[in-house]
Amino acid sequence: MNTVQFQRKVLRALSQCAFLSEKLIGIPKSRYYCPTCSQNVFSWQPLVRDIGDGHSKLEKSPRICPHCKSLERTRLFSLYLAKYRILETQLDILHFAPEKGLESIFRAANIKGYLTTDLFMPNVDKVEDITKMSFPDNAFDLIYCSNVLEHIEDDKAAMSELYRILRPGGQAIIQVPIIGETTYEDPNIRSETERYKHFGQGDHVRVYGTDIEERLTSAGFDVSPFDILDELDLTEFEKDRMNIKRHELIHRCLKQSR
Ligand SMILES: [Zn+2]
Repeated sequence: MNTVQFQRKVLRALSQCAFLSEKLIGIPKSRYYCPTCSQNVFSWQPLVRDIGDGHSKLEKSPRICPHCKSLERTRLFSLYLAKYRILETQLDILHFAPEKGLESIFRAANIKGYLTTDLFMPNVDKVEDITKMSFPDNAFDLIYCSNVLEHIEDDKAAMSELYRILRPGGQAIIQVPIIGETTYEDPNIRSETERYKHFGQGDHVRVYGTDIEERLTSAGFDVSPFDILDELDLTEFEKDRMNIKRHELIHRCLKQSR
């Protein structure tokens, strides 16, 4: 067992002890709460980041829910779904690289249809390559695709496919890590170690800038970027309690009815 695995084991054990003590004897009182799985959280866990070639690094600031493994962006989107009552409508939803906690929310909702998909994750409903999917045109009302496109070499094909399978009048919620204004990519950077150095993670192929909006527009979407933390308008207490202080830019991509 390496150091990172050991640290993860200890953190998991600690949070489980705290969770059980709360459930059984009511103490200690949790300071934190996860809106994705609706559970109290004693302590958040740090993210283990893939730095390439089988190596990983433990991030300093703890961000992950010990129960459902949600990150800030997942917790923010859970709150967004609730605020705008999105799941109270009869929708066909496609969820890429499904986050466990969010998947539970979608599956429990009274919606028309829900499918998870990914090329590599186990236990998804449909194994699909986002650049050439088998879904028919105009198949989904809502597509949630978070932290996927930065892994995809041909993101132009992926965006075009997302547009194709979205129903007119529907929306794709696209989220990627964004730094600065201009997207940085270089197809000659191939090794995981180099990709970590240049793009921040061993399996990322670029770092998007805010100019991702132009790429999405070129695929056909009407794009509205928004800061989801600002949009939710939370109090400082709520942000602290749910550990969601990071600003995350989301792209709401609409396919107009023609
Ligand atoms: Zn959770």
